Amino acid sequence: MNRTLTGIAAGVAVLIAALSGCGNGDGDDDTPVVDRFSALPAYTADPAFASEYDRHIAASHRNTLNDEFMLNTYRNYYCMYPEENVELRNEVRNGAINRVPLTQLFDDVWYIGSHHVGQYIFRSGEGFLVIDSLNNAQEAQTYTVPALSVLGVSTALPFKDLIVTHGHGDHDGGAQELKNLYSPRILTGSADAARKTYAPETIDSSKVEPVRLTLGGRDVILFSTPGHTPGSLSSIVTVKDNGKPVKAVLVGGSAMPGNKAAADNYLYSVERTYDLARTENVTASMQNHPVFDGTLRLMEQINQNGLSKPSPLVIGQERILQGLAILRQCSAANAAKVDPATPLPVWQVAKLEQPTDGPTAKDVSARLTTGWGPVAGQAIIFTGTSSKASCTATTNDVGVARCARDASIKLTVGEEIVASFSGTAIAGATILPASSAATLVK
Ligand SMILES: [Zn+2]
Repeated sequence: MNRTLTGIAAGVAVLIAALSGCGNGDGDDDTPVVDRFSALPAYTADPAFASEYDRHIAASHRNTLNDEFMLNTYRNYYCMYPEENVELRNEVRNGAINRVPLTQLFDDVWYIGSHHVGQYIFRSGEGFLVIDSLNNAQEAQTYTVPALSVLGVSTALPFKDLIVTHGHGDHDGGAQELKNLYSPRILTGSADAARKTYAPETIDSSKVEPVRLTLGGRDVILFSTPGHTPGSLSSIVTVKDNGKPVKAVLVGGSAMPGNKAAADNYLYSVERTYDLARTENVTASMQNHPVFDGTLRLMEQINQNGLSKPSPLVIGQERILQGLAILRQCSAANAAKVDPATPLPVWQVAKLEQPTDGPTAKDVSARLTTGWGPVAGQAIIFTGTSSKASCTATTNDVGVARCARDASIKLTVGEEIVASFSGTAIAGATILPASSAATLVK
């Protein structure tokens, strides 16, 4: 019953058993299945790098997977080392003169500030949470106070909590003024809290465990991310987008430190942020310096076209993790620059794709690639989310894994097929986990 086709990529599997109960019933079950994936781009091998720094920088670039947004946000801004990118660094600093008006990002979140730095205002039925406080008392008066008034701050809807992401003046300069006016609880990392007149409550910067709190009437996870400063504090905040809860990550520091201890801390903090964003299913990002993660671009889009539903800030978990992996590569490059003697594995972003027109009962398959090319020899687990049917297949030399048709596996047309890859370590690199979901079309 098998037919063999020649001249077809090695990804073509000749399937033996019919998958009964879920096919199209045409009885043509022994037809060989042909890969249905877009053409792969041309991949080049890594050159012999002059330094570990160069190796990590090149990896940050590959991890953009040729995505223009990732290249012109996370990649270019986080890897903004002066020797690479003086112009960009100047552009970021000069962004301080360009204001961003009060801009709604979600049902219950607004940004106000400049292109360079700003603050986020979160409103719930119980009151306000604000993250960061602009540069000084005058800016707080000029920008924050009118914004809060417009948004309805009152004794019934008080400004309850202020998170200061770290102790630099562009984030906490307005904190004392906001405390004088509204008496919010102020939270910051303990290592940045000394001698602050606004006397913050502290999150222990020496502890890595996330702290779960209700702030301004919403769920917030605070976690210490020392590196940019010893007390840098990051958060995952639950917001509402078109009525639905969405989790957004706010990385508490941006520019990379120049000494080994801080550079190592920064790297470790980013790796923990990645892990937490993954387990918490974060699908959006906001940055106190909004060029870094693309928030500024997306706000410009909102201010031109209005706030879409869903918000353009909801870029999905896969892209959030890709961005954080690029940030991790930039911080690995920085750590390698500071200490070239201690090699670090490169993180490779993996992409798992299901067939272009969707999986079918005859063709439950996926292709695993990274910015370096297809990944062979890896186990991919496929699961039907309603039938609970499952199979595991191994990727071939073009990165394709395909379930053998098996009469005992009963899938349901219309159900979601989830393909997942749990990640692996290879020489000099870690290939990150990946997953993909698609509807079984027939
Ligand atoms: Zn800073």
